[in-house]
Amino acid sequence: MSAMRIDGKAIAAELREKIALEGKKLIDETGVTPGIAVVIVGEDPASKVYVASKGKAALECNFHSVEHALPATTSEEELLSLVQSLNEDASIHGILVQLPLPDHIDEGKVLELILPEKDVDGFHPINVGLLTTGARDKALVPCTPSGCLIMARRCLGDLNGKSAVVIGRSNIVGKPMAALLLSENCTVTIAHSRTKNLPDVVRGADIVVAAVGRPQMVKGDWIKEGAVVLDVGMNRIAAPERGEGKTRLVGDVDYDSAAEKASHITPVPGGVGPMTIALLMANTLTAARRAAGLEDLDYAALLG
Ligand code: NDP
Repeated sequence: MSAMRIDGKAIAAELREKIALEGKKLIDETGVTPGIAVVIVGEDPASKVYVASKGKAALECNFHSVEHALPATTSEEELLSLVQSLNEDASIHGILVQLPLPDHIDEGKVLELILPEKDVDGFHPINVGLLTTGARDKALVPCTPSGCLIMARRCLGDLNGKSAVVIGRSNIVGKPMAALLLSENCTVTIAHSRTKNLPDVVRGADIVVAAVGRPQMVKGDWIKEGAVVLDVGMNRIAAPERGEGKTRLVGDVDYDSAAEKASHITPVPGGVGPMTIALLMANTLTAARRAAGLEDLDYAALLG
């Protein structure tokens, strides 16, 4: 069997287009332009790339978009005061503070200051609590897992009773992914660095989400025939075949061998990554619609 490649880039482009249309409708009907503020502290090159893509997507969706690039020497107090002013700014519906923050800043303190209704990353304890207590419709849900869920549903339709294994238990990917799959009535296993016999655990899964940060760790012979494989990992490895000192991006899954067993699989790059950014735009639109007293949109249904 050779898997169908899930074209996250194309699905994300379609989603951004729908979001731009819905954003325009919101402006026409209520005068509200969805607004997003992205805050970056320091010079981390990967973070700068992510922030630039987020800004580009926001412009493409015709959102009001502001970026605050602060030096690595910014104090915790200065950052908290910026977040507070964004909380109070009615033109901003979504606030994202790019992680990681420099060591001298308490990440939890910053994330907890963001108003839950503007927390488009979905990392505030209130949003985490809403998601895990079954009130997902009132939460803002983290973007990467939301994007994965949309892709899983496009492949499988109803996820009721499916067996899902999430490898990784971080607060930004693994745990919210597991909570979302559980809310879709999957039977969910969360695996991590202490899991015993990981290949056997993964072999039982209809849906595999790999969010580990280890290049090509998940091999084809771990994958059940016909499973859906969603690869969140983004790892830079040396690529001497491209020239001296060159690198390339790979996922946590060994794509070629896994594609022989899976029914559907996301590539890296071009899979989960672009969906994450599209879902950030979706969360911003949701936050703006809620602020205007409107119902949430069903983004999976918008995609058709
Ligand atoms: P973290 O480092 O926070 O978490 C990694 C998880 O993997 C941990 O729970 C860890 O277990 C587990 N783990 C580590 N080694 C093993 C192992 N040998 N076997 C099983 N589990 C293991 O990473 P993130 O969740 O933040 O990110 C994961 C990956 O996804 C990274 O490559 C990151 O770059 C990428 N990413 C991609 C995004 C996208 O949009 N495409 C968005 C966010 C992240 P333990 O808890 O026991 O230490």
